[in-house]
Amino acid sequence: MAEPTARVDDHSKPIAQLVDAHLEAAQRLEDDTHGEIDAVTDQQGRTVLLRRSQEHLLARADVPESAILDALPARIAMLDREGIIVSVNHAWREFEAANSADSTDSTDSTEQASAGIGINYLASCDAATGLAAADAPRVASAIRSVLSGHRKSVVIEYASHSALAERWFLLSVTPIADDNPSGAVVMHLDITERKKVSRAQRHLAAAMDAMRDAIYLVDRKTMSLIHVNDAACQLHRQSRDELLVWSPWKILDTTRESLERTYDKMIESGVAAEPVEMTRQNDDGSIGWVEVRRHAKRSDGRLTIVTMVRDISERKAAEARIQRLNRMFAMLSSINTLIVRVRERDELFKAACQIALDAGGFRMAWIGIVDRSETLIVPVASAGLEPEFLAVARVRLSLRGEASDKDPISVRAVRSNAAVVLNDIREDSHIFFARKRLAQGIHAMVALPLTIAGEAAGVLTLYAADVGFFDDEEMALLTELAGDIAFAIDHIDKQERLDYLAYYDVLTGLANRTLFLERVAQYMRSAAVSAHRLVVFVIDIERFSNINDTFGRAAGDALLNLMAQWIARKVGDVNLLARVGADKFALVLPEVVADGNVTQLVENALAGFLDHPFQVHDTALRIGVKLGAARFPEDGENVETLFRNAEAALKAAKTSGEPYLFYTPAMNEAVVQTMTLENKLRQALKNEEFVLHYQPKINMVSGKLTGAEALIRWNNPETGLVPPGQFIPVLEDTGLIYEVGRWALRQAIADYLRWRAAGFAAVPVSVNVSQLQLRHRHFIKEIEQAVAVDPHAAAGLELEITESVIMADVKRSIATLQAIRALNVTIAIDDFGTGFSSLSYLSKLPVDTLKIDRSFVLDMTSGPQGLALVSTVITLAHSLRLKVVAEGVETDEQRRLLHALNCDEFQGFLFAKPVPVNVFESRFLLALAT
Ligand code: C2E
Ligand code: CA
Ligand code: CA
Repeated sequence: MAEPTARVDDHSKPIAQLVDAHLEAAQRLEDDTHGEIDAVTDQQGRTVLLRRSQEHLLARADVPESAILDALPARIAMLDREGIIVSVNHAWREFEAANSADSTDSTDSTEQASAGIGINYLASCDAATGLAAADAPRVASAIRSVLSGHRKSVVIEYASHSALAERWFLLSVTPIADDNPSGAVVMHLDITERKKVSRAQRHLAAAMDAMRDAIYLVDRKTMSLIHVNDAACQLHRQSRDELLVWSPWKILDTTRESLERTYDKMIESGVAAEPVEMTRQNDDGSIGWVEVRRHAKRSDGRLTIVTMVRDISERKAAEARIQRLNRMFAMLSSINTLIVRVRERDELFKAACQIALDAGGFRMAWIGIVDRSETLIVPVASAGLEPEFLAVARVRLSLRGEASDKDPISVRAVRSNAAVVLNDIREDSHIFFARKRLAQGIHAMVALPLTIAGEAAGVLTLYAADVGFFDDEEMALLTELAGDIAFAIDHIDKQERLDYLAYYDVLTGLANRTLFLERVAQYMRSAAVSAHRLVVFVIDIERFSNINDTFGRAAGDALLNLMAQWIARKVGDVNLLARVGADKFALVLPEVVADGNVTQLVENALAGFLDHPFQVHDTALRIGVKLGAARFPEDGENVETLFRNAEAALKAAKTSGEPYLFYTPAMNEAVVQTMTLENKLRQALKNEEFVLHYQPKINMVSGKLTGAEALIRWNNPETGLVPPGQFIPVLEDTGLIYEVGRWALRQAIADYLRWRAAGFAAVPVSVNVSQLQLRHRHFIKEIEQAVAVDPHAAAGLELEITESVIMADVKRSIATLQAIRALNVTIAIDDFGTGFSSLSYLSKLPVDTLKIDRSFVLDMTSGPQGLALVSTVITLAHSLRLKVVAEGVETDEQRRLLHALNCDEFQGFLFAKPVPVNVFESRFLLALAT
């Protein structure tokens, strides 16, 4: 504190006035600052006490007024009427001294010493220049207005900045003697700090307003709002003034007590509270999310709670969407796993619905299948739905009639074969149980068609809780899901169809032989347990092929269906009946008490059957049947035996003329005696009943014999010569072809070698090779061994392999053929032309001869196209250096044409039929030799 000075005593009266004036100024200052400030600090840290502290000081009578005045940090001067400084306080003096020391344009040192006393203050203000003096005219005019008695007193703020610092002052001018001022007290109070603080506060407020979070400053003590930012005002749709009178607990929709507890807990822990997420009702009634963060700030003894509220609705929505999509993915993958695992449609549907609830988070789900014949959607599986719905849906989901927007969404989805989304159930009045759904908290639903082969085969309907649940992303996943389910249905359908084909007769829909035998086996097991009998019948339709021939196949099929229905009706259970052959049915009676019954039953049935006319086209046909029966257990212990014996009984019935026969062991002996073709052919091989006939090949130009094709025949002792077409398929079926083929090969080579040895003009022999032989892994070795018998054998052998056999597996054929040619055996493509497209492959095939099929030789004379074709083949073959042989030449015209087309050789009835080897030798070889 500055020390009191003597000078003050000299001017005791003006000083008293000065004190008065100062007090008045202080009062104004206080009014001006709303009483918020009771002390002000100047730059030197000195405190200007305002009213209360001053009153306190003044109350101390022992302190001289001048001392008080000097104690004040404000610069105070008293001016006379002219503006001349009469007296100053300590602060004024100090300031003047400091100022003139700083000042570069310092003037009179006496002025400094006297701190301006005697100087006209107004004049010096008027004369002041420079940055610091910018407000000097305002100061001067304020003083003048008081001195002139114009105004009672003036308080103004002014700036006096220097290049180094910004400073603000509060000027108060108070007249000495009110009515006719004899002077004035001028006080400058440095308010730079306060100014700076308030400016900082303004910046702070602006910064808060720039933030998107709502900010509330709450005074902990009073629990009142100190400040709110713009975002807070916007959040509550209130002006700042309106909002500031709210109580903070109202804003947060809580109670004062609870909010205080929250604050105190935070204050106690000394750390900022963890952000809290809470819901908040928006103005439109929807629920939004906010994140609230708080911290406590202690300053100037005041505890302020800063609360920041951030709208996180968008983030929350995004999180929720991601969560939802994750659920969708989980559902999709679960269902796909299911699809891979499940083989049965019903199981797939049921599990898919359940997954929609468990993994997909849907509230309900159901799958309906389109029944085209009934033109409605039939719910087949559901989860979460009440039985009443399914009952209603079963009759109400009709696809009949015109499409309408009143249709349930599942119907619309099927009709349009497109997903139908209903993101708010309230928008569609045609939802079944709409009110109930809303009560259940279900707001959105979707119907997804299950599309197979471009048509909606079914529909998957899902129910979700939230309004607007089905957005684009979700729909993309759900559409994929529906596609997967549809694919699975289709797959299972096809599988079922295959199963069906394996077990059912497509024409009549009856069980086939396989399924029938399975069923009978089942019945046999239970018959064995309960010790009752069982009878199997095989029923044969008489002269069925006649019906087919007379009325056509379709009529025959229709008749089979009618008969199947008739028998099924008579028996009463379609599962006891089967179609086991083209014109054969089988029937099982699983529980037979006594023999007599059955005979009676059969006779009645047969009579009824004969009486019943079947309508085929316009004709009523009476159809006769034959019947063979076998009983379990006496006629066979296993199902195969039982069935075979029933067939034996049928055969016996047919030959005996009886309408029906029960099996007897004697019948089976007869069956054994009737030898199958297979056994006969085995026998033929053993008994050497196969023979080779030879057909000559003739050179087109010279007309000379060039070769012979070996063609096999079976010399059946019972029936005579059998042509190969009748037995080669059986040989191939039974695998006998390998042995028979080997025999033919060796026989042909043996014949050729014998001709050579006998001195005949031996010609090479061509041997036909079956597909099975060619593909056999030992085929090459076999040829090798066959020609190994003689060094000349290979040169005398040609193999004929049909074009289609070669083409069936070109790569493999080429390899085999190359190996054979390496043995010096030549190769001919037989029946060439039957696969014309293979011409392009011809160059790649390791062959020597090309045999034009007989059908082309025939076509050659029927038109120019046929001729052109043969011509092309010959030209092409020649370009590839192949010999061309024409097969089946029967007329001279054919021969002449082939000759003209440069065909090399021919074979055919025109020259000779295939003949037995001895005939071939005597007629052709001997003739040539002589
Ligand atoms: P392929 O190899 O095309 O034999 C030619 C067939 O045409 C022979 O019938 C022959 O008798 C008949 N043919 C010859 N010239 C004429 C004619 O001018 N007009 C008519 N209409 N037919 C003629 P074939 O002997 O009945 O043999 C039929 C098929 O049996 C042969 O057709 C061949 O693929 C197969 N084959 C014959 N022998 C054997 C053999 O030893 N092994 C194998 N795997 N198949 C053989
Ligand atoms: Ca041939
Ligand atoms: Ca041929």
